[in-house]
Amino acid sequence: MVRIVSSTPTSGGEVPEQIDVPAGYGRAFRVRAGQQFEIIDVEGEQVADLCAVAAESHDEHIFLPVTRLALGRAEFRHGDVLLTDRRRGIVRLDDDPVGTHDTLFGICDRYRYEVDFALPPGHRNCRDNFVEALSAEGVSPAHADLAADNGVNIFINQRRDEQGEFHLEAPLTRPGDAARFTALIDAVVAVSACPESQSACNGGRPTPMRIRLL
Ligand SMILES: [Zn+2]
Repeated sequence: MVRIVSSTPTSGGEVPEQIDVPAGYGRAFRVRAGQQFEIIDVEGEQVADLCAVAAESHDEHIFLPVTRLALGRAEFRHGDVLLTDRRRGIVRLDDDPVGTHDTLFGICDRYRYEVDFALPPGHRNCRDNFVEALSAEGVSPAHADLAADNGVNIFINQRRDEQGEFHLEAPLTRPGDAARFTALIDAVVAVSACPESQSACNGGRPTPMRIRLL
């Protein structure tokens, strides 16, 4: 994992740790209960997919059906909590500049590119990014795969109109925009800088993300 330590102290005087996520790749990191972290859209118009497992039991992961049931909707907003399959909060979204996130549409996988876009095998994708990144933090491929089934789309700009039709447009984020989260339990979190360039998902141009551990 590439870890870059910031030279900019926080207001509390501590130096936050930064993790650069290259365009099209994923990275995972550990957070403690109560710890905040930011997902920063370095260049703007980029979706970050996020999944997480409990640090103490990797078979416990964000589970979107129970999260949507608790929220009463598919959109994910300020103050909302992502729940695990054991129905306890694992991560809360505290603040972000655009307010467009989603728990419904899932993440891209190798078949998104091979089937939907008729591309040859080997295209990077969020599912494989999650498995690679979580494996680097000691999460088994089987547990990582379960977590990847429940990836949240941060900054995605896909909306439903009054007829229930979906419309995907470029994210509204500008360079440097950040979503801030709080971990509610000790967790291993994975973030993928979505590699999809074939739609408006990432403004047609996948770019890097940055994680800042506060
Ligand atoms: Zn993706």
